[in-house]
Amino acid sequence: MTSNKLYAASFALIAVLAGGAQPADLCLFEAAEPHMGTIVHIKLYAADQPQAEAGFRAAFDRVRQLDGLLSDYKPDSELNMICRTAVGRPVRISSDLFRVLAASQSLAEESQGAFDVTLGPITRLWRAARASRHPPDLAVMREALRFCGYRKLHLDEARRTVMLDQPGMQLDAGGIAKGYAADAALAALEQLGIHSALVAVSGDLAFGEAPPGQHGWRIGIPSVEASQAGFSSVLELSHAAVSTSGDAEQHLDSGGARYSHIIAPASGMGLTRDITVTVVAPQGILADGLSTAVSVLGADRGMPLVEKRQGVAALIVTRDGGMPRLIASSLFRRLAKPPSDKPAR
Ligand code: AMP
Ligand code: MG
Repeated sequence: MTSNKLYAASFALIAVLAGGAQPADLCLFEAAEPHMGTIVHIKLYAADQPQAEAGFRAAFDRVRQLDGLLSDYKPDSELNMICRTAVGRPVRISSDLFRVLAASQSLAEESQGAFDVTLGPITRLWRAARASRHPPDLAVMREALRFCGYRKLHLDEARRTVMLDQPGMQLDAGGIAKGYAADAALAALEQLGIHSALVAVSGDLAFGEAPPGQHGWRIGIPSVEASQAGFSSVLELSHAAVSTSGDAEQHLDSGGARYSHIIAPASGMGLTRDITVTVVAPQGILADGLSTAVSVLGADRGMPLVEKRQGVAALIVTRDGGMPRLIASSLFRRLAKPPSDKPAR
């Protein structure tokens, strides 16, 4: 991965006059920093450079703080600590970690275990497999599965505690933490009076008020087929979040199959079906968690999870023998109508 130093040195602050800026002549500022094993990009509208700089500092610091709590790569993260300290006894945890674990557990229940934050022993095997380019040994994987299962993790909301059933359990919040971090960075900006901003933690985006003089943030849909299916390839959204899950970046090609970094918890195998899921939701924590869960469930079982929620939309692109198939939720179809089809505002 690119070194922190390199990016810290090139911390960029670019001010661009917003076209037709109205309220208080807000200007657009952009910056990027490496966090959570990826690059975090922020665009925000501020009155001046000092306000923008204060915003970037607060937002990036918040993401760094969350990485320190939620990372499964950092041995002393709170997430890793509880795997050592909360075995067989409840341990009080930070409200951030509690929120992420509580959202993970309710998604696990709802998806019948397709989303599972206790898959750490398995995701570590697949990480090593991607590095060595060999799929994990099946016997080793079966053994690792004995230490997984969301029902072995217990939360007590009143006391804000967590307890794990077994030693050797490992948690991995990689399917939900980036969306939560995007939400939290946006909230940090709000606190400084910056209402119109977009935070992108890799493929997990959260954004607030529309840019001045515009209807929304213009979010590109990562599928060339969208326009062929009659959808606009750009959504205009405000006060929402968008997450995309797929195997485009992290996968292992072996024996003619492509194994995704997203795991089917029942078998411990990386998904081999070619599926990309984009979810729009009111919060990043939900968009992120759902996009991972729907990837595991597939369109038939996953779309009902999307349709039953107000304000949640999804586009699922599957490829069978290279032929793309697009499945869009009802809200997605409305959001992605080309401008000429939309009723005048
Ligand atoms: P995302 O890119 O948000 O879909 O998250 C993928 C990441 O989530 C993986 O790299 C793993 O760290 C983790 N993960 C993989 N499979 C699952 C799963 N079934 N449930 C929850 N998290 C998962
Ligand atoms: Mg996710």
